[in-house]
Amino acid sequence: MRLLFSIGFLNISWVDMIDVSLVTYLLYQLYKLMRGSVAIKVFLGFLSLYLSFLLVKAAEMELLTAILGQFMGVGVIALLILFQQEIRKFLLLIGKTTVFNNDQFFRSFPWRRALVEKQVSINPIVEAAKTMSASHTGALIVFARDSELKFYTDSGDELDAIISKRLLISIFNKYSPMHDGAVIIVRNRIKAARCILPVSENDELPASFGLRHRAAIGLTEITDAVVLVVSEETGQMSLVANGKVMHNLSAQELRSKLNQYMLDNKEELEEVKLSKEELRNARETA
Ligand code: ATP
Ligand code: MG
Repeated sequence: MRLLFSIGFLNISWVDMIDVSLVTYLLYQLYKLMRGSVAIKVFLGFLSLYLSFLLVKAAEMELLTAILGQFMGVGVIALLILFQQEIRKFLLLIGKTTVFNNDQFFRSFPWRRALVEKQVSINPIVEAAKTMSASHTGALIVFARDSELKFYTDSGDELDAIISKRLLISIFNKYSPMHDGAVIIVRNRIKAARCILPVSENDELPASFGLRHRAAIGLTEITDAVVLVVSEETGQMSLVANGKVMHNLSAQELRSKLNQYMLDNKEELEEVKLSKEELRNARETA
C-alpha cells in the first residue's frame, strides 16, 4: 500500500484516508436517521462499548478484552433486534428514493399506463372532514400515493369501497365499531379502516400532539403518503406530509392542498385520456 505519511507508529496510506472518510460519512447518515429517537441513546451506548473494547484490546488487558469480546460477538444480532424499527425505516427510505420507485421511470412503460386507475375523488372527503370537524369527530384518513401501504392496510379491516361522504362519517362516528385507527385510501377506493399506523418517535414534537397526530406524522416520515387529521378535541383539520403538519386548514385550503399532492396521479390520468383518444382515433381511421 502506498504510504501517505506516518504519525509515530501509525502508517497512513490513501486507502486508510478513504476508509476513514467513508466511515465518517456513514456514521453521520446513521446519526441523521436516528436523531430525535430513543435509538440514538442505545447506539451511543453501543459505540462507547465498542471503543472501550478497542482500547482494552490495544492495551492487551486480556480479561476485559475477553468480557467485552463476548458482548461484541453477539453485537450484530443484538443490533439487529434493537434497531429493527430503524433498519426498516432506513430500507423503506432507500426504497422510497430509488429510481425503481420513481413514477417518471415507470411511466415510460406501456403496461404501467394500463394499470393506472381513476383519480381520488377529493370532494366527498373534504365534505366529510368539514362535517366531522363541526361535530368534533376525530378522523384519520391516509391517502396512498406511489406506495400502496399494503403492510398498513393489512393491519385493519379490508373494505375496498367507493369513497362517499356518508360512509366516511359512519366509519368515524364514535359509536361505530370501525372508528378506531385510520382509513386508508388507495387510488379511488376506501381500501381499509381500523388500520394501525406507526407512531412517530420524534421527541421534539409538541406535547399537545396525541397519538392520532403522532401516528399521522409517523407514517409520513417513512412513506410518501399524505394524511388528513380531524381533531376530536379542537375540531381542527390538518394535513400531514413528509412528517410536517399543516395546521388548522379551512375546507378550501384542504381541497387545494390535497389536489396539489395528488397532482402526480392527475398527470397520469391525462396520459391515460390521451392514449384512449388515440385509441378512438385509431379505431375511427381503421
Ligand atoms: P385529538 O386531537 O383528536 O384528540 P390526538 O392527537 O390528541 O387527537 P388521541 O386523543 O390520543 O390523539 O387520539 C386517539 C385516537 O387516535 C385513538 O382513538 C385512535 O383512533 C387513534 N390512534 C391512536 N394511535 C393510532 C395508531 N397507531 N394508528 C392509527 N390510529 C391511532
Ligand atoms: Mg387527544
